[in-house]
Amino acid sequence: MRCMNTVKTWQTATSRQSDTSRIAGQLGRACRGGEVFLLVSDLGGGKTTFVKGLAHGMGYDGVVSSPTFMVSRVYKGKKLELHHFDFYRLDEGGMVGMQLAELTHEPYVVLAVEWGDVVKNVIPMEHITVKIDRVPSGEDDRTITIKVPEKFAYLLEGMA
Ligand code: ADP
Ligand code: MG
Repeated sequence: MRCMNTVKTWQTATSRQSDTSRIAGQLGRACRGGEVFLLVSDLGGGKTTFVKGLAHGMGYDGVVSSPTFMVSRVYKGKKLELHHFDFYRLDEGGMVGMQLAELTHEPYVVLAVEWGDVVKNVIPMEHITVKIDRVPSGEDDRTITIKVPEKFAYLLEGMA
């Protein structure tokens, strides 16, 4: 029988874009390399906003925008590189999916993936899921649920 890994769940509410970026920034600062973030939400939920925060937390201070046409973007932080993928409206991961698979072995790389269903075959079993849900109470209200396997438990240590 296969042993299930323990997964820690952390949840918070945000009511503006800057809250979401700030939380992601805390996680970005805690990254050590090798983390794989899967971002899950509907369109406009805040995935790219979250990636922006991650990148800035890692020390990158340029622009972060959604990679389109299956192009991935790289943001160089102080010590680590954040590779941002967006597979929106794609039926398969293709070549980019293969590049992503290669990157999961790089110790100084952090991956952030939007609409990653089409590449789930190459996503390591131990990944971080960031789910952003809209809340009916207000247009800018979101619930953010982060699931972290034991391997990446240090990410949640500083979180309130
Ligand atoms: P996605 O990548 O999931 O399609 P984006 O991050 O590109 O989403 O867009 C999120 C949009 O929602 C932005 O226009 C942002 O200003 C807005 N927004 C409003 N409230 C929040 C919040 N609490 N967290 C994140 N984004 C928010
Ligand atoms: Mg996006």
